[in-house]
Formats: sequence, structure tokens, C-alpha cells
Amino acid sequence: MNAPLTGTVALVTGASSGIGAAIARGLAADGAAVALVARRVDRLKSLADELPLALAVGADVTDATQAANAVARAATEWGRLDIVVNNAGLMLAGPVADAPDGEWERMLSVNLNGTLNIVRAALPHLRRAGTIGPRDVADLVTISSTSGRLARSGNAVYSLTKFGVNGFSEALRQEMVPHRVRVGEVAPGIVDTEMATHTRDGVREAFLGQVAEVTLMQPSDIADAVRYMVTRGRRVAVNEMLVRAAEQT
Ligand code: NDP
Repeated sequence: MNAPLTGTVALVTGASSGIGAAIARGLAADGAAVALVARRVDRLKSLADELPLALAVGADVTDATQAANAVARAATEWGRLDIVVNNAGLMLAGPVADAPDGEWERMLSVNLNGTLNIVRAALPHLRRAGTIGPRDVADLVTISSTSGRLARSGNAVYSLTKFGVNGFSEALRQEMVPHRVRVGEVAPGIVDTEMATHTRDGVREAFLGQVAEVTLMQPSDIADAVRYMVTRGRRVAVNEMLVRAAEQT
């Protein structure tokens, strides 16, 4: 039997580490050709070398032109685009009152503008794939967070961005129903990745202390959720998945 995504083309942002790299591996194992998008091209190239059909595409998703070029590169290389995973993201935790200049803007820029830039460029391709292709359906998945469902002190601006992408995804889902583009959102709990290392000193230790007793999820646990979402038959649309570490409150 063919792998379920044979003949499809996927694009994953933030594929240079953590959850994005695991999603790319998972989609490739399911048979998709995968365009790997992020800024650290060396890492993308080593991942591409491991996968049967993959392309490393260096791009900063906060730049609309670079995002559009990355999408165009994938679609040109393989002639179509069936699955897009908006995964690139940044969490800079910390109390609102103490935030250094520029931290909020960086989060808003990657988590919101980055997502919008990729969506704008990808929609025409996804709409086409929704009607012509191996599956007659296309998928747009955004990686949100439990912070997009439940606001907690110390994570206000990150929560703002993730509540934002959830609202955007739901509205877009309704708009895309006639075009057979399924729009879904996966909300991970705490996953063992580089994410916390970006948070400033002092706050990072407090954050890691809070989760010290929890067995963290691995990136592949979230990749499994994305794979489940995009491999359903076309009569099913899994629009939301909340996946927490079992010991997480
Ligand atoms: P990582 O820090 O390991 O990965 C973040 C990815 O985003 C990297 O590949 C990075 O690549 C990419 N990225 C960041 N900024 C840009 C940019 N401007 N342009 C292109 N790519 C960019 O963290 P995770 O894997 O944990 O995070 C992935 C997603 O999962 C994020 O959206 C995060 O909010 C979400 N999430 C993570 C959780 C966790 O506990 N880890 C929990 C809930 C949600 P590069 O630097 O090479 O550009």
C-alpha cells in the first residue's frame, strides 16, 4: 500500500529545529515531498539530506517577500503545494512590566506576521490542490499552544499571539470550506525543544523550574498529531487538537 501522502507536496516553516523538524520528518515518512523553511539553512540542508524528497529553503517568514519566495520555490520545484504547516514561532516569556524593548515586537512579528505572510502566499496553491491532486483536499495547519487556550501570568504577549492565530484559523477555516482546504490548529503543551532557550536569563530558570517535575513531550508527539490531521480522508476535517504532556496542569 502507498504511504498516505504519496504524490503530495508539503511546506513546513521552522523546520530547522524542534517540532518543525519532527513534522517534516513525519510528513516525509508518510510520502510527502517536503520544503523545509527557516533561517538556519545549514540545519535545513542536513535534515534535507536525511529525507527522501526534500528541499532546504532559507527564509525569514517575517519578511513578506522572503515568505512568498519560499512558497513559490516549493510550488515551482514540484509543481504543486498540498500541505502547509505554519510552525515557526517564538516564545519570550516574562512579566509584561519587565519586558525589554523589542521582545513583544519579535514575538508578534514571527507568530502573527510570519503566519500571515505564509498564508497569503500559499492560499492560491492550496486552493488549486483542493480540487486537482492525489487527494482532492489540501491542508493548512498552524501550530498554536496551550497558551492560545489558557492565559497565564508571565506569558501575556505569547498568549496574545497564540489566541490570535486560533481566531484567524477559525475564520479562515470557514472561508476555505468551499475550496476543500482544511484549516486546522494543533495546540501543544510543553515539548522538549530549544524554545525556552530564547527566553531571557532569570525568566528562563523560573520557567524551567515550573516544569521540572513534568515528563516533557518530544517533538515527534506533536508531529504525530499533525500527521493524523492531514492524513484523514477528505470527508473528515480535524480542526483542533490540544496535546498536553500527561503530567502538565
Ligand atoms: P524551536 O525554537 O526549536 O523552533 C522554532 C523554529 O522557528 C525554528 O526552526 C526557527 O528557525 C523558526 N523561526 C523562528 N523565527 C523565524 C523566522 N523569523 N523565520 C523563519 N523561521 C523562524 O521551538 P519549537 O519547536 O518548540 O517551536 C515550534 C512551534 O511550536 C512554535 O510556534 C511554538 O510557539 C510552538 N509551541 C512550542 C511548545 C514547546 O513547549 N516547545 C509549546 C507550544 C507551542 P530559525 O531560527 O532557523 O529561523
